[in-house]
Amino acid sequence: MFAPFSLPSNPDQKTIIREATTAETLDFCDVMIDHEEALTTKFLNTVQDKASYTDCAKWTAQDRRLALFWYWIHTTEDTHVDLDYTCPHCQKTHNHQFDMRDLASDYQEIQGKAERDLKFNSRRLLVTPLKGHHMETLENMRLGLSVHKTDSSHYLRLKADICVQALLFEISFTDDHEDDEGKRISSINNWVRELSETKFHQLQEKVSALQDEMIHGLPSTIRDGKIMLKSPKHICPNTKDKEVTTELLLPFRNYMRIPRI
Ligand SMILES: [Zn+2]
Repeated sequence: MFAPFSLPSNPDQKTIIREATTAETLDFCDVMIDHEEALTTKFLNTVQDKASYTDCAKWTAQDRRLALFWYWIHTTEDTHVDLDYTCPHCQKTHNHQFDMRDLASDYQEIQGKAERDLKFNSRRLLVTPLKGHHMETLENMRLGLSVHKTDSSHYLRLKADICVQALLFEISFTDDHEDDEGKRISSINNWVRELSETKFHQLQEKVSALQDEMIHGLPSTIRDGKIMLKSPKHICPNTKDKEVTTELLLPFRNYMRIPRI
């Protein structure tokens, strides 16, 4: 067992994970490596201590990244990352070396509850962070992008659908007293689709501002329905101006890993 950790979206909830066994690791090989969120659900539910278990599909995307990070730092000897990138300031290639453990110094617990009220277009909404099961659906949609050329109409349409779906997953009506969940989902779906285009963008901005208020976990950002960790800021060595920094987005899979055989 590793030391317990708190879920960043719900600090009262202590979670304990342990190292996976070889047999369990073989089971993770059933899941395609591209299905990172599906694999995350299977992995974290397997290595959780039974006494404190809660289904990680219901954790926020940031809770899940923290749990994977926790596992990784407890099972990895060399946590240094060596990264080449093209500098947006001077357009040259720089090398950024850092210890992944440094990410933990910018760790944040959520302020208040992991939900916010929003009044919009005479409706009352609840805004919540994206959960693991949402991330799995968005990931499945995103995998569909790979079969289309990036300038094709199918690609652009699917990308827009992902963006609308991500927003729909973040909101629900608090003034809808319908018991049937399917009906509630379809009514908010229709409501969003009937908003004027300018209202839709206003709604996106308001939801995004509330998500910023609820920042929690390791420094990260969700882009096109995918969560990426942010590297510690790197100063451009050519401009040597302390203000000129670059923050790199780290897809989890490239730097940390869920064990496989
Ligand atoms: Zn530079």
